Amino acid sequence: MDDPDPPLRYTTARAMLAGGYTLAAYCRRCDRWADVDLNRMVREGRGDKCLVGPTLRCRVCGHVGEGQLRPPAPGLCGPRE
Ligand SMILES: [Zn+2]
Repeated sequence: MDDPDPPLRYTTARAMLAGGYTLAAYCRRCDRWADVDLNRMVREGRGDKCLVGPTLRCRVCGHVGEGQLRPPAPGLCGPRE
């Protein structure tokens, strides 16, 4: 059995935070972006929940949203001198 190497290792809120990533979710129905509050997920004990797949729901319409992992923005991680 092949062990499928996931293209993204950051599959949980805790791992995303550790890597400096943020997660945004897009709702097609509302044409709306929302930032996922990873810190809150960890506080609520959901830090190790796998966020891959249709796990995010739009707070406005309840439609399943599409998650987009965003890498740490260069230049925002402190001075590089
Ligand atoms: Zn929506």
